[in-house]
Amino acid sequence: MAEKKSPKPDLTELSFSQSVSYYFDKAAPHTQAPSGLLDQIKVCNSIYKMNFPVKFGNEIKVIEAYRVQHSHHRMPTKGGIRYSLHVDQDEVMALAALMTYKCAIVDVPFGGAKGGIKISPRNTPPEVIEAVTRRYTTELVKKNFIGPGLDVPAPDYGTGEKEMAIIVDTYMTLKPGEVDGYACVTGKPVSQNGIKGRTEATGRGVVYALNQICSYADDMKKLGLTTGLGGKRVVIQGLGNVGFHTANIITQYGAKVVCIAEAEGAIYSEKGLDPNAVLAHRQKTKSILNFPGSKNLKKSSDALELDCDILIPAALEKQITDVNAPKIKARIVAEAANGPVTPAASDYLTKKGVMVVPDIYINAGGVTVSYFEWLKNLSHVRFGRMQKRFEEESQSNMIRLVEDLTGQKASKEQIKRVIHGADEIDLVNSGLEDTMIKAYHDIREMYKSSRSIPDLRTAAFALSINKIKDAYYAMGIFP
Ligand code: NAD
Repeated sequence: MAEKKSPKPDLTELSFSQSVSYYFDKAAPHTQAPSGLLDQIKVCNSIYKMNFPVKFGNEIKVIEAYRVQHSHHRMPTKGGIRYSLHVDQDEVMALAALMTYKCAIVDVPFGGAKGGIKISPRNTPPEVIEAVTRRYTTELVKKNFIGPGLDVPAPDYGTGEKEMAIIVDTYMTLKPGEVDGYACVTGKPVSQNGIKGRTEATGRGVVYALNQICSYADDMKKLGLTTGLGGKRVVIQGLGNVGFHTANIITQYGAKVVCIAEAEGAIYSEKGLDPNAVLAHRQKTKSILNFPGSKNLKKSSDALELDCDILIPAALEKQITDVNAPKIKARIVAEAANGPVTPAASDYLTKKGVMVVPDIYINAGGVTVSYFEWLKNLSHVRFGRMQKRFEEESQSNMIRLVEDLTGQKASKEQIKRVIHGADEIDLVNSGLEDTMIKAYHDIREMYKSSRSIPDLRTAAFALSINKIKDAYYAMGIFP
């Protein structure tokens, strides 16, 4: 009897986790993984939902929170913790699955996970945030859902190094004497065993990726763009961790940020906005609006529809949907946020000739540098500590040799330019750039390898699934 085909899903109705599954299913036929293994890779392995009480002034409130471990094919599992009123099980499952595929793409040897707490990060007093964070960490410890070899959280929407510092402090209090305990969480302050460059890593990774993408003359020609980031007109949604650092670093590459959108509204300037000045203005006035020399847009979401070369949604999921996709004028949409473009919108834009750069690749800089931080914590030594002076000495010997051989003296400036032993930040940024370039190269090769692969996202998912399949085979689980 012929197998009954399941009907094509209505793409406009999919939840976030169904969207991730849809992308997975679309990529699966382009992989070498057998169907049973595909089912195993796709499913979420462990879901921990918790409710706990926390005191808000004189009131007791019940807090809803989650930790989802999507895949244990590599351990530990890894993924950020989000504080947002939109948090629910479906969202955390989707984000955990994206982490699995993301880690595989950038060769970070972790399974995917994600955490979420249903709380407003902006309207909750700091002492309540601290109490919630400590209690959440305690719940994770109780169930073995955190630990350097088990599950390693990191920052995400609404959290940052302050929360990571509270997590590590709580963990170390509950597990005194654990020699690798600092590796239980990444994105910590540098003073608490964090790593230089982690805070800006996701944004920096987005810019390294875009710089690489824009270097292919034939791809740019198809989009009607010139090569390089210089002069590109960029619109950014979200001026939080990812959005701000992307904006700041992309301007250093010669691009022009013509519009920034935040929750309260959006500002536009054809001359280009200085992200540092905009951030200072927002911190001072509590709003991005009325920034000197810029024009306020009527609605924050109008920013997405502006004419520009690169649109970078860096806030939340489901920002570009089937409703506003026909109005998007950007040639490249770079998913700095997780899931900002819905499947219906992604398919529509691709058909229109827009390049949609998928989240599982372009925002992987954060987890890449988190991996470096984890390695640093396990090795108990700062990157560069052993070799910096040795490298400087070797470089200076080389200059002396050249001087002896040529009979010419190098100037102080020339010597300064050449002699530079690598610091932690140099090594982190170099490792991050190399990772983003190599991963894009692999995705592009996969995309170009078959005419039946419709877009970069499908290529990225297929690449990732193949790598996870290989990891299962290496374990001898599916020979
Ligand atoms: P964040 O909390 O630092 O910043 C998010 C910003 O978006 C906030 O300033 C918020 O006010 C703004 N915002 C909310 N709704 C908005 C709207 N409708 N329009 C415009 N702006 C709006 O969070 P983040 O860490 O920058 O994360 C942003 C996105 O990037 C999320 O999807 C997250 O999952 C993803 N991401 C983050 C990291 C990381 O290292 N932090 C890594 C990978 C992916």
